[in-house]
Amino acid sequence: MYDVAILGAGPAGAALACALAARWRVVLIDKQPTPPPRIGEALVPAAGRILRDLGLSDAFNALQSAPYVANRSLWGSDVEEYRDFISDPEGCGWHIDRVAFETMLRDQAKIRGAACLFHHPLQDVTPGWHLQCGDVTNIKARYVVDATGRSAVLARRLGAQRIAADKMVARWCRINSVPETKTGISSVITTPKGWWYHIAAKSVDACESTVAFHSIANLLPQGDKAAFLSAAQDHLGLSEILQGAKPLTEPTTTAAHTARLDHISGENWIAIGDAGICFDPIASRGLFHALYSAYVGAALIDERLRGQGDCFALYDGEMSRIYETYLDHRRAVYNAEQRWPRSDFWRKAHA
Ligand SMILES: Cc1cc2nc3c(=O)[nH]c(=O)nc-3n(C[C@H](O)[C@H](O)[C@H](O)COP(=O)(O)OP(=O)(O)OC[C@H]3O[C@@H](n4cnc5c(N)ncnc54)[C@H](O)[C@@H]3O)c2cc1C
Repeated sequence: MYDVAILGAGPAGAALACALAARWRVVLIDKQPTPPPRIGEALVPAAGRILRDLGLSDAFNALQSAPYVANRSLWGSDVEEYRDFISDPEGCGWHIDRVAFETMLRDQAKIRGAACLFHHPLQDVTPGWHLQCGDVTNIKARYVVDATGRSAVLARRLGAQRIAADKMVARWCRINSVPETKTGISSVITTPKGWWYHIAAKSVDACESTVAFHSIANLLPQGDKAAFLSAAQDHLGLSEILQGAKPLTEPTTTAAHTARLDHISGENWIAIGDAGICFDPIASRGLFHALYSAYVGAALIDERLRGQGDCFALYDGEMSRIYETYLDHRRAVYNAEQRWPRSDFWRKAHA
């Protein structure tokens, strides 16, 4: 019998396992044997504090992630704007290598005593809790946590509904070169059909970066990696940065919409990270939220396991407040671009 079974060993699930494994019997389960390459590399400065509180600073620092010093935007006009983190009390953020980051979190969970079942997709769950994952048929736990990302597999099986606020998707690929001057900077650039995003460095020594376009499905640039990169290079604000770049991977399309579960916790279960709330990538907030909701979720489960308090309903309230504040912020950001009132994408973004 485990105290806690965590479904999903992405940033949220693995961080929650790190927080609980030294004190409780924890099993961390994922369908993937190892973390796959994923988009989402900008880690905001505030995440440093949570990593510290989870005792993960040394392991994180050992990754030597590239500093993330500023955001550059051409949004609402063709005038370039920079916002740096110089006045942020937490200092700068990081442009992380996602595979290395998630591998570090999984390793730390294991070191702290979590049992790990990787390459074990969820097959079945019955209240009580009894889980079947891959060929392991009877995993018993007192609490279960859904950390399965946007699919929210566990919560949906338990009756929660996903409420989506839009239909945004992103098409992205990795490219090989960036001019030295843009290292440490995330760029966002609007177009009549959506917006481009570029992160200038994957790690301190690898000159690899990510370029992505965000829109609704029928407005995404089509074609292979060369066509995709060439569409990016055609844009003011990206042409200089992407000069001489070569695509390293074929473009991939991924869901990037805003959504939440109608209830984010229930009888002896909670959802954390993207499983509970997922954000528009413009917010650069998903990884921070994954770590924050893992931190808060771990504290609530710990209280319950010690027989103190019954705070899952408070967790739902806190997550709802976060979501409403985020929706206001997102509205303000999209309203700042008013140049194409007849564009399908911007009409929907302003609705
Ligand atoms: C285009 C785009 C750009 C983004 N850019 C940024 C960014 O710059 N900065 C930022 O902070 N955030 C960004 N994000 C968001 C960020 O990537 C996510 O918020 C983050 O990955 C959420 O972590 P998670 O652990 O909740 O979920 P995930 O990372 O999705 O992990 C879920 C885990 O659950 C596992 N799983 C799924 N189904 C099952 C199953 N049936 N059984 C067992 N295991 C299962 C998966 O294998 C996976 O390991 C971006 C997102 C998108 C779409």
